[in-house]
Amino acid sequence: MDIELVRLYLGSVDGPFGAPTPIHGYAIKHPKGVVLIDTGIGDPGGAEWAKTYNLQWRTMEAALGDHDLSLADVQYLMITHLDHDHMGQNFYFKGIPTIVQRKELEFAREVQDEHTRQLFEFEGAKLEAIDGDTEVLEGIKAVWTPGHSPGHQSVLVGNGDGSALIIGDAAYTRDVYDKPRDFTEEHPGYVLQVRMDKDLWVESIDKLHALEPDVVHFCHDNQILGHSR
Ligand SMILES: [Zn+2]
Repeated sequence: MDIELVRLYLGSVDGPFGAPTPIHGYAIKHPKGVVLIDTGIGDPGGAEWAKTYNLQWRTMEAALGDHDLSLADVQYLMITHLDHDHMGQNFYFKGIPTIVQRKELEFAREVQDEHTRQLFEFEGAKLEAIDGDTEVLEGIKAVWTPGHSPGHQSVLVGNGDGSALIIGDAAYTRDVYDKPRDFTEEHPGYVLQVRMDKDLWVESIDKLHALEPDVVHFCHDNQILGHSR
């Protein structure tokens, strides 16, 4: 089964990994409908940090429209983790199954502030918790990759001819993915990237390397690693 995926440009912020640092989601065109991986950042309104980090944001509608897709095409959401730049536009998808790791849900409910919690727990949100590595639909697998957050998941797409990995924030950039052991406290983005235990984080990246994906797509890097399928 060949599964096509497209990258959604959902905006950018200026940060330690670049100015601008892109914010990407992905749309997987599966026979059962479009599966959306992450929804980018929500409407910042007058948020102070939006100015501080020079936030440029785009609506999900516009990002899908770039690829002749619409909100109504989306049948599933998979959220890599519950940071606001990955689930900020979930509100468009009331009643749509939203797949997230149970550990992530528990963590986010505990640590996120009320505003951020409301971005994923609103009336009509249909959160579906999974535990660890799980085939969600034929050819779409959640891969548990803790380190950036306890319930972070990456997504492996495809079977048979080739595979593409949507890495989420397990690694922000290609450089980090290539050499996680060389990524140290000296990097200005260290705390942002490795929020938990470094060994656990490196272990997750090793796990992704072991899957030998043909292509790796990043949420915060424009580079695409590997060859097109
Ligand atoms: Zn992120």
